[in-house]
Amino acid sequence: MIYQIANYVQASRYGNGGVFGIGSQQQIIESRSLWEALVIIAACWKSPKSENLVRLETLKKYPSLQAEDIENSIKIIKENNFLIKPDIFKLDDRYSRNKLYYNQLGGDPLEVQARIESKAVTIIGCGGIGNHVAYMLATCGIKKITLVDDDHIEISNLTRQVLFTENDINLPKTEVLKRELEYRNHSVEIDIVESNIKSIADLDKLEKTDLYIISADSPSQLIDWVNISCVKKKQPYINIGYINDISVIGPFYIPDRTSCFHCQQIVPDLISETITEEPLQKELKSLEHEFKTSTFSAVNGVSASYAVGDIIRYLGEFGDVLSMNKRIGIYSNSIKIQEQSIDINLKCRVCQL
Ligand SMILES: [Zn+2]
Repeated sequence: MIYQIANYVQASRYGNGGVFGIGSQQQIIESRSLWEALVIIAACWKSPKSENLVRLETLKKYPSLQAEDIENSIKIIKENNFLIKPDIFKLDDRYSRNKLYYNQLGGDPLEVQARIESKAVTIIGCGGIGNHVAYMLATCGIKKITLVDDDHIEISNLTRQVLFTENDINLPKTEVLKRELEYRNHSVEIDIVESNIKSIADLDKLEKTDLYIISADSPSQLIDWVNISCVKKKQPYINIGYINDISVIGPFYIPDRTSCFHCQQIVPDLISETITEEPLQKELKSLEHEFKTSTFSAVNGVSASYAVGDIIRYLGEFGDVLSMNKRIGIYSNSIKIQEQSIDINLKCRVCQL
C-alpha cells in the first residue's frame, strides 16, 4: 500500500530525545537515535511511497542508521495513525480538516465521510443544544436533518441559541434553523416537523432515521417516552441535556447492543408522579411552580460538542461511542467528569419484554 505522512504530524527536540506527533497520540522519545530515525523516515514519507521504498531510500541516504531504529520508527508511525492515503487532503475540499480528524482517530477518511453523507438524523428540540448539534452535523455534510419543534423564538433564547438573531424573534425555531443551516451547507436536506412532543404516540408517529437526537428539556417525561418509543421501534437515540450547571451526555441507545434508559433507575421519580401520598404535597407543589433549570451557553455548548463526537463516530462507524451504557456529566464550575453506569438489566420492563 502507498501512504504518506499525515499533515498533522510534527516533531521537535525535547530533553535528550524528542517528541514525535502532537495531540493524543504524541510520542515522547527518550532515545536520541530513535527520534532522529523517526524524523528522517517521516521526512522521506512526506511524499507517497510504499513502506519498502521508505526503508530503501532512508538507508541509501543515511547508511549509518541502525536497522532497529528504522523498524521501530516505522512501527510507531503505523501504530499511531501518523500515515494517510495520498490525495486525501485537498485545500479546496470543504471537509479536508474533518478528514484529517477522522484519519487521526483511526477511521478511513473517505469511507467515514461517505457514511456521514448517507445518514439522516432527527433532532427533537431546536433550542440551545439543537442549534449547536444541527450546525455541527450540517457542516459535516450529513445527508438529511429532520427538525422537530413548534416553539417560536423569544428574546431570552438569544443567550445560547446561537443561530437565531434579534430579527428572528417570534418566528418558528425550525424555519429559522433550516434557513441558517442551508446558508452553511446547501447540500444538506432539511425537513421540518412543526410539533412538540406531548405523548409517546407523538414519538411513534415520527419517521425512523439513523439516529434521534434528544435535545429538548421539556416535558419532564420526555426521556421516558423517547426510551419506550425508541425501544419499541428499534430506533437508536442519544440524549443530550444539562442539569443546571452540569452538561449531560447519554445514554446512547443502540437496539440489541446497549442498555436502555430504563435498565437502571438513575433519576428519582418525578415529583408529580409520587406526590399524591406525600404529607408535604403542598410544599412540594409550590417548589415545582415556575421551575426553570438554569442554563448557560457554555454548559449546553459543552453537552452538544461532546455528544457530536459520539454521533459522528457512530454514524461514521469508527472509534468508540463513549456514552453507550452510561450517562456522562461534565461539571462547569470544577474540573470534574462523572459517569453514571446504566448496565443492561435482563429484567428491564422496557427493553427485555
Ligand atoms: Zn432496558
